[in-house]
Amino acid sequence: MDAFTFTRATTPEQAIAAHRTAGAQFVAGGTTLIDLMKLDVERPKVVVDINPLLLDQIAATPSGGLVLGALARNSDVAHHPIVQRDYAVLSQALLSGASPQLRNMATTGGNLLQRTRCPYFRDTAHACNKREPGTGCSAIDGHNRMLAVLGASEHCIATNPSDQNVALTALEATIQIHGAHGTRTVPIHDFYKLPGATPHIETTLQPGELITSVTLPPPVAGSKSLYLKLRDRAAYEFALGSAAIVIKLTNNRIDYARVALGGVGTKPWRSPEAEAVLHGAPADPITFRRAAEAALKDAHPQSQNGFKVELARRCIVRALTTAKQSA
Ligand code: SF4
Repeated sequence: MDAFTFTRATTPEQAIAAHRTAGAQFVAGGTTLIDLMKLDVERPKVVVDINPLLLDQIAATPSGGLVLGALARNSDVAHHPIVQRDYAVLSQALLSGASPQLRNMATTGGNLLQRTRCPYFRDTAHACNKREPGTGCSAIDGHNRMLAVLGASEHCIATNPSDQNVALTALEATIQIHGAHGTRTVPIHDFYKLPGATPHIETTLQPGELITSVTLPPPVAGSKSLYLKLRDRAAYEFALGSAAIVIKLTNNRIDYARVALGGVGTKPWRSPEAEAVLHGAPADPITFRRAAEAALKDAHPQSQNGFKVELARRCIVRALTTAKQSA
């Protein structure tokens, strides 16, 4: 680990100013950054501790939505009564990730910026365009069983590893970002970038910008939501495929549907194709399978992860079926 300067910010303005220093990084829970510093993958010159900022609120909005402060811990969000009642998909997603100890430390904002678990990204002995632009992608001809089948490029096929972010995508969350020129709000769908030729640029965040909160819109009346995660072992494991579903039925017709996938895309993967199939259709196995086929129609598997295409389809069908049964 390289030497670095440590500084603690007590206001957002201090944090933003410190982050504009070359090589600066924010630290909150530290569950990603510290790991990657130990591996020499991240080598910040300045670490800006933002834990003193008053950004851990979980509060209802006047319009009936919910604001999650960027420093709200994943455990606190998952167990919050409003989240459990109105945004069950988010609680389920959070509780499916990591371990209780990690969830006690990890924050809403940090989870948004969680880095990939591609093994080559985390091993400096291998070429990786995301870690060192222009060096190549070791995964394309290497171990790629866990990696993406949607949204990949010839430069990077890494998945976004987060469960939280899949649920937030299905819930159409927005992200509030504070910078030197004020505050802006970005829909989560526009926050993440596809890898293209620049896989090291993962989001639309600019240097000196600080995520301050995430806002969930009011829940859709009468809707049900569900997160289903498929993985190699039952706990402390990343998704091979996951589905976050929000669905509303009237007389067994689907009035409203949001579908997002995890474990298969280079970013949290919203599927408007699946949603278009579901909207207005009967909530039955034929519709669910058609939606799943639509969601994966553009899948491009790698040498070792072809199984993910059918796995993700079945994950969608199972999630929709379970959500329907609870409706
Ligand atoms: Fe690096 Fe992406 Fe290739 Fe993994 S898939 S080695 S993160 S460039």
